[in-house]
Amino acid sequence: MSKPADSSLDRIRRHLVGLKMPCALESLQDTVQRIERGELSTFEAIEALLGEELTTRQSRRIKMALQTARLSTIKTLSAYDFSFQPSLDRQQIFALAELGFVERRQAVHLLGPPGTGKTHLAVALGVEAVKAGHSVHFSTLADLIASLTRAEREHTLRERVRYLSRHRLLIVDEIGYLPVGTSGGNLFFQLVNACYERNAMILTSNRGFGEWGEIFGDAVVATALLDRLLHHAVVIQIEGSSYRLREHAQLLPEHMRSRPSASPPPEPPVKRRRRSKEDA
Ligand code: ADP
Ligand code: MG
Repeated sequence: MSKPADSSLDRIRRHLVGLKMPCALESLQDTVQRIERGELSTFEAIEALLGEELTTRQSRRIKMALQTARLSTIKTLSAYDFSFQPSLDRQQIFALAELGFVERRQAVHLLGPPGTGKTHLAVALGVEAVKAGHSVHFSTLADLIASLTRAEREHTLRERVRYLSRHRLLIVDEIGYLPVGTSGGNLFFQLVNACYERNAMILTSNRGFGEWGEIFGDAVVATALLDRLLHHAVVIQIEGSSYRLREHAQLLPEHMRSRPSASPPPEPPVKRRRRSKEDA
């Protein structure tokens, strides 16, 4: 192949700068030399330059989106040891990773004792959603309520709820570790109500639904929350022992080694429909 004139290389460089393609610009000289040495055909060279730029852009976009989603500790489904948690249906989790529940704006509940991987699975599903281009927001219930309380104090609650409900997938982690009180329950209800049938949610909890009245400080608010959060819901109960404590289980008293389940979800007050895994 004939050597490209310096002027035409300069023009290509200027185009790449104008098009904001720094990776292709950086590899241009090397790629031209490889064409000259016969190591690359022209088509392969174009593909390599564009491909490199695209891959870099995609990974930068995913990195930014993961930061925006607050998915800082990255967990993946492939890093989850399903053999440690035999009660969990692997196929059902992988079906969720196909993200049909996001399209259908469903709520997914991950229930189980501490250390069984609820946060891990919620983050891993969030990462899949980010990779697929969905906007995701991850927060613990305590942080979420703190931010809603602050917004209410600053008279910006409506904007805060609108901002949160703009995300296609909201992940609310650690429901039940700390009681949030009636005002927290009311604020969470306003968010859930805004998200109902508009956004997908993943909620994790170490407590059964029957205990939500206690968590949210009010049976009426808990009923209204469950009414929305169990409609179109996928409920996954993990029944097993803590992965964190797997090497130290013998140091624990017998009753703490393997807790079968956070009390099984009771029938909700109204409108509950459990979806089968085909729906997940
Ligand atoms: P939970 O939210 O249910 O309390 P986490 O998801 O925080 O539990 O899990 C605790 C730690 O153990 C995390 O570092 C997580 O990555 C890891 N972990 C939990 N279950 C598994 C598993 N089955 N396979 C691999 N790692 C796991
Ligand atoms: Mg957790």
